Amino acid sequence: MDELEKIRGDINSVDERILEALADRHKLAERIILAKDQLGAPIRDALREEQILASLIERGRSRGLDAHLITRVFHEIIDDSIRSQQLHLLGYQKSGLKRVAFQGIEGAYSELAGRKYFAPYLDQTLFVGVNTLEQVVNSVEDEDVDYGLLPVENTAAGSINEVYDLLSCAQLSIVGEEVLRVEHCLLAFEEVPLANIRRIYSHPQALAECMKYVSKLPNCQGLPYADTAMAVKKVKEEKDPSVAAIGSEEAGRLYGLKVLRRNIEDQANNYTRFLVLAKKPSAVDLRIPCKTSLIMATPHEEGALLKALSLLHEYRINLSKLESRPIPGMPFQYIFYIDFEGNTAEDRVAQALEKLRSATTSLKVLGSYPTQHRSRTQPKIEILAGGPPEAVEASAEPAVPAQEKVSYRLASREHKKEDTIIAVGGARIGGPGFVVIAGPCAVETPEQIRKCARQVKECGGQLLRGGCFKPRTSPYSFQGLGFEGLQMLAEAGREYDLPVVTEVLSPADVEAVARYADVLQVGARNMQNFSLLSEVGRSSRPVLLKRGMMSTMEEFLNAAEYILDRGNHQVILCERGIRTFETATRNTLDLGSIPILKRLTHLPILVDPSHAAGRRELVTPLALAAHAVGPHGLIVEIHPEPEKALSDGPQALRFSEFAELMRRIYQG
Ligand code: PEP
Ligand code: MN
Repeated sequence: MDELEKIRGDINSVDERILEALADRHKLAERIILAKDQLGAPIRDALREEQILASLIERGRSRGLDAHLITRVFHEIIDDSIRSQQLHLLGYQKSGLKRVAFQGIEGAYSELAGRKYFAPYLDQTLFVGVNTLEQVVNSVEDEDVDYGLLPVENTAAGSINEVYDLLSCAQLSIVGEEVLRVEHCLLAFEEVPLANIRRIYSHPQALAECMKYVSKLPNCQGLPYADTAMAVKKVKEEKDPSVAAIGSEEAGRLYGLKVLRRNIEDQANNYTRFLVLAKKPSAVDLRIPCKTSLIMATPHEEGALLKALSLLHEYRINLSKLESRPIPGMPFQYIFYIDFEGNTAEDRVAQALEKLRSATTSLKVLGSYPTQHRSRTQPKIEILAGGPPEAVEASAEPAVPAQEKVSYRLASREHKKEDTIIAVGGARIGGPGFVVIAGPCAVETPEQIRKCARQVKECGGQLLRGGCFKPRTSPYSFQGLGFEGLQMLAEAGREYDLPVVTEVLSPADVEAVARYADVLQVGARNMQNFSLLSEVGRSSRPVLLKRGMMSTMEEFLNAAEYILDRGNHQVILCERGIRTFETATRNTLDLGSIPILKRLTHLPILVDPSHAAGRRELVTPLALAAHAVGPHGLIVEIHPEPEKALSDGPQALRFSEFAELMRRIYQG
């Protein structure tokens, strides 16, 4: 016990040193902005951030700290520094009480968003709950409060129409935004079995975000209530064990309810964006990345919207949102809400808006405000993989031989000359880059997939793979953990900031799998399962399509065509070996297909050396050979303990072998 106490004491003093160091660094941020101000220097210097990160990772490694930990910690530290530099430039006064109106009572999501936004000034901020969104607007207009908070859109349930309608009439400006990750809990008076719950109260928006979850509970009804926190309070007061509320964990704690389930939202990544409104617009320093919002109506004539949008394009203005709403009292006429990157104080934006005035019947600028989305400098892959990269041969635009007649159309270079580049999280698949996807054949335990995720991230891999529904030759082999495995995969991906790839076997599962997976894999055995191809073709997730082991390249491209034809244009091809008379390898890796497919199609192409080789010792040489023929990346199986793997253990690279492979790919 003495020993435990002593270690705890040591931990406390280390924490104290960390705190002091953080406070020192925070103070330096306040000083550096003054120095930058004098020089007119930008807040951020991407090159310097990259260098700092690279050097910290290297020095951290020599002390036994992993690159992911260093990256995460310093992302937060750099973010804090940028936030406080921005606040300085915004001239926020540290004195004077500010009153902030939100809809609901204490514990509502709007209040949580407000607490996040005003975090540096919480001691001088008074949150005032009001009953309706309209009252939020009114109290800012009447100057009863300094700011108002309005939820404007949710990533699962979409835009909040009422707020858009309020904005069109309000005499207010948007001065800020906040994005809150919304994690809904099912809260009840006491621990009761889910089957006993008959009524669930919450705000209609929260009910909509958890619709699938609620509909699966037997004999249970979702009932709308004014606000999530009020619903929580009501359940506490009713003391009825058959009643529950959907709300935040904080609201549950505040009103003394028990959490029956966490994260019951239908979409794994559920965020709500809030706007901060004030009576007057605020001027935002040009060095702060900004968004501008406006409302416009165009004449009811051919090409009017196109004309307005092309004006913005002419001034290189990047739209981040376009929304239309009916004009009250004018059936089938619409106004448009637009968000774009830029600040009305920039010449280019001012000129664009001036021109836009003459192309619209009404134009109302709602305000320019700092964007909440701050890009984070990522460590370079070669730093992670341990050295400078080999120059990857740029993919020259291949000419299409005129006489070739092919049976597919959308997949062909004739249809689209330039390479398709598919963005998944921060990774770009296709074009000049080279991505590595790695992970176990199958997800087995939370620990196993976490370890793999960590290794993938540490070595510079960009996506995490892991099978949850396994297509096994024998019905007696391990079939995968199904949706339970998918949760583990998604969790590991989230922890290590890696998008995840998993195979989907049945058309009926596509929608559910797509909720968690960033990329849907169609396996070699299903390459010509046309109903599955059609279903993934209707999904909005990118699809990794593996070449059937008995398929020609033309059949392969026709399979891709099914997906493209259904409207999903994000198809990634994968060569994984074909069946030949040779038995020394599991399949014969057809590397010749890579340069040929690159001529025939604009779609990105990966190579899977693992399933082709079937044996670990062949994976690295085949991967290096594959790299030389110019695919857009690799997908490789790894396992912390291949001997114990439940599937494809003999071909899984050990962690050290994967690290060495990555070093050889990126270092040469
Ligand atoms: C896999 O990637 O786990 C897999 C089963 O691959 P394939 O469909 O290529 O056999
Ligand atoms: Mn496998």
